[in-house]
Amino acid sequence: MRFEISKVLDAIEDRVSTDPSLVRAVLDLAEVVRYQDLDGGRPASTMRLGMVIDALGRHLEEDNVPVYAVVHRALLSDADLTSNERMVLRRWADNGLVEVLVNPADRVLEVADLLGLPVLSRGRFDGMSGRFPWVTSVPGRLLAPLPGAGGPVLAQRVKGNVAATGPSPTGRKLLARTWRCKEPGCVLFGGGGGGGAFADLAEIDRKPSGQPPPTLRTGMPTCPRHDQRLSDAGPRPTEEVLSIRIGGMVRRRFVVTADRPVVVGRAPDDSGGVRLGQWLNDEARRWISRSHVRFELRGGDLVAQDVSTNGSGVRPGGSMDEAERVALARQQSRVMRGGDIVELYPGVQVGRSSTWNSGGMTNPSSVMAEAPTMAIRLPDRG
Ligand SMILES: [Zn+2]
Repeated sequence: MRFEISKVLDAIEDRVSTDPSLVRAVLDLAEVVRYQDLDGGRPASTMRLGMVIDALGRHLEEDNVPVYAVVHRALLSDADLTSNERMVLRRWADNGLVEVLVNPADRVLEVADLLGLPVLSRGRFDGMSGRFPWVTSVPGRLLAPLPGAGGPVLAQRVKGNVAATGPSPTGRKLLARTWRCKEPGCVLFGGGGGGGAFADLAEIDRKPSGQPPPTLRTGMPTCPRHDQRLSDAGPRPTEEVLSIRIGGMVRRRFVVTADRPVVVGRAPDDSGGVRLGQWLNDEARRWISRSHVRFELRGGDLVAQDVSTNGSGVRPGGSMDEAERVALARQQSRVMRGGDIVELYPGVQVGRSSTWNSGGMTNPSSVMAEAPTMAIRLPDRG
């Protein structure tokens, strides 16, 4: 039993991130683990994080959506969690996958505000509408995870049509820079005191994802974990957020930066590569090479280079007109304009995430797939 729960936690681990480019909602983990009515189980359970992540996937109709989790430090030693759960949470904290705070206060709302993301919470935050007006006025920004027939559903606090949002003007300014915390070993903001510029750069390079937004609670960019004023370490490297879309369904997003090209294929050897094998049918699997297309930033341009055996195609501006499809032969490169889509095989596509408004998946795969039935039993409705 414990072994299976560990497997679920490993799956959930892939869905917690502090990378502003990839996360799709913000939540307070100490709150979510206590939504006991979601499964009728223990007072606190990290399985509920998986259930809420699944609900977000169904809400966005997209696979593999990550969340930004703010964690009260007390949760790391909460006796209502198992020792295994506490150990996993500490690992997430040590690796910067979640943001651990002594006093989270309004950090969840601040992150949501800066990044333009929804908050997954049952809180009403009425007292916060002065500083964060969207809490009570903008549809889709406050979503309450409630029990539903097929797992939790996200109920809109403010009803209405949801418009796409992005980082706030302040968020955009903060995300345009790289920030440095004085605290040695700070996992969120590149740490390392006095190691010199190169040591600092190496530190940044080790962090697998983009920096989270600083907090502004002191009026200046500050490390939310260490309460240290952050220094400006220069412009943030430019990046492009791309999506994998297979058969009309968005399976996952990934980020390409100037110093981190990404290879997409059936099963790339490259550790940072995007593996498609599990989503392909037999014919697509035969056609698509282990490493098929390499995406990189050259200057400001996003460049796709075919590295396959069978070649690829580009659909300029996303055109589905076969006459307009441009072949991308082996080793050939092409700059991707606005809505251009690279096609590895008919229906297996890569494009900028902004190209597709909807994930197109009515039934995204569950992060709870490995969960033992006991952990996800539904509450009695007697
Ligand atoms: Zn710090």
